[in-house]
Amino acid sequence: MHTGPTPGAAGEVGQADHVLHRAARYAADFRAGLADRPVTARLDVDALADAFGGALPATGSPPHDVLDALVAAAEPGLMATAGPRYFGFVIGGALEAATAADIVAAGWDQCAFNTALSPAAMAAEAGAGTWLKDLLGIPGSASVGFVTGGQEANTVGLAAARHHVLSEVGWDVERHGLAGAPTIRIVASEERHATIDRAVRLLGLGTDAIAPVRAGDNGAMDVGDLERVLADTPAGQTIVCLQAGNVNTGACDDLRAGCDIAHDHGAWVHVDGAFGLWAAASPTTRHLVAGLEAADSWGCDGHKWLNVPYDAGYVFCSRPGTHAAAVSYTAAYLTGSGSGPAVGADLTLGSSRRARGFATWAALRQLGRDGIADVIERCCMLARRFADGLAAGGLEVVNDVVLNQVLVAVGSEAETERVLSLVQRGGICWLGGTTWRGQRLLRVSVANAATTEGDVDRSVAEILAAAR
Ligand SMILES: *Cc1c(COP(=O)(O)O)cnc(C)c1O
Repeated sequence: MHTGPTPGAAGEVGQADHVLHRAARYAADFRAGLADRPVTARLDVDALADAFGGALPATGSPPHDVLDALVAAAEPGLMATAGPRYFGFVIGGALEAATAADIVAAGWDQCAFNTALSPAAMAAEAGAGTWLKDLLGIPGSASVGFVTGGQEANTVGLAAARHHVLSEVGWDVERHGLAGAPTIRIVASEERHATIDRAVRLLGLGTDAIAPVRAGDNGAMDVGDLERVLADTPAGQTIVCLQAGNVNTGACDDLRAGCDIAHDHGAWVHVDGAFGLWAAASPTTRHLVAGLEAADSWGCDGHKWLNVPYDAGYVFCSRPGTHAAAVSYTAAYLTGSGSGPAVGADLTLGSSRRARGFATWAALRQLGRDGIADVIERCCMLARRFADGLAAGGLEVVNDVVLNQVLVAVGSEAETERVLSLVQRGGICWLGGTTWRGQRLLRVSVANAATTEGDVDRSVAEILAAAR
């Protein structure tokens, strides 16, 4: 009878000095200091070059020494992006359970290709995928691919769209490619995210295929103009891209009307909802994405508003067979592939993949349905608090703060850059700039579950002081 320690039991992993324990301690210490350390890095990339440079050593080093050297080299160049006062880009934090899950996932070193390679990784993706569809209001019958982020989600979603619209006219794009294929037109907002363009390029459609639709006052698609573009531009096999969460203003397209109009024209509808789709998870913001269930494919990020560590995104498709037909492959040696439902690598652009499902599953478990709704609601409330505070200090908020994004005018382009540079170097908080409709602006994004009212007030004070 087997009497040794159960694999993974405390006795076996109890060697306090294991390099992975040390690694976890470094990570925990860094995270414990996140709220207090300067948000910006102490050294820039050039100053870090020496620590990471020099000739490759001819001989190896013990893992402990390598880890210590890595931490010493990287530490001065780390940004507190996971901290509560980082408001640049659209950047979430990393929930404790999700971070811990990624740490064990690295230790387990699972390859999330298919069920033969890791039953656990596939089961986690299946379970978390079901929860995600439920939270976001996506039909339960949709397929879910765990991708690197919004870019891959948009690429896979549009690959499924390309497959579908061409197969409708009898063209097998996977076999025949695009040379000689019926024309595809992409109809998308003039304020779409740039990853749509990159996906269109990578899929061989070319950005000339994009027919732009006007955006309204706050950056959501003008659906009247969508109607006009669909009627007026040369018809072809049509893919309409809608957006939940304008990357500048946070505005969401009218998904119900957009889907109705697009479907009336026989189009496939892809929704880029990298962060905005999360509006569906809170009763206070759900109306912003009403009608989303009518779309054909959706992209969403975990590493933004769900606060899963990088990299974590999701692509959903209402037609699982189309999803798999567009991106899967098989080969004789791939045990477990091509039989049974599409999983893992069948639904993404990767083959040997990190087991991303664990961290998302853990994030969803840590927060629960109510906790997720609370994060979304609180970030929106904090964005409004930001806007109110900056407006009270004399700055102009130029967008309607419908979600978690705030755009602020401080004056000329030079003045804006001066304020940004002062705030960024100050280390209290970090935000970036943007140009929206010709105006250079400060751009604030609130997407970290750990951010408090106090963090916002401190940051508002810092920005106002810099603007004076
Ligand atoms: C962030 C974002 C993307 C790209 O997502 P990544 O996770 O960075 O690949 C696409 N669309 C929108 C609207 C975004 O905000």
